[in-house]
Amino acid sequence: MSTRSEKARLSPSQASEIFSEAAQALWVKFNAWYQTHPEATFDEMDSFLGEEGRGLLGKALQLILRQGDLGSTPEGRHCERCGGEMVFKGYPGKVVEGLRVEAEIPRAYYICPRCEAGVFPPGPTSAAESGEVE
Ligand SMILES: [Zn+2]
Repeated sequence: MSTRSEKARLSPSQASEIFSEAAQALWVKFNAWYQTHPEATFDEMDSFLGEEGRGLLGKALQLILRQGDLGSTPEGRHCERCGGEMVFKGYPGKVVEGLRVEAEIPRAYYICPRCEAGVFPPGPTSAAESGEVE
């Protein structure tokens, strides 16, 4: 899994498969918890799913974005300071917290070898950071 950042972008079928696995994992966990808490109230189940579901919803949000370009451009980017060609450095993850969702979102990252300035081109993450994602 150490090469995960290289595989940040996904096809729709890959994204769907990963989400199905995550949903199944949550089901197994919830089911196992319920077996040891057969007297659980609605509120206790609500609380369990609220906490566990946050990660699953985050996965959904992350996977949706990973079907896109994540801010990378085929034609490359130029440094705003010196105009030199910037080097693509992969897709480091950034943790974004919303009201119901906590997601690690990979974003394209470029660096200028001359200025050593790094840049994350704007994209859907910016919207999430400014709280525009419902
Ligand atoms: Zn530069």
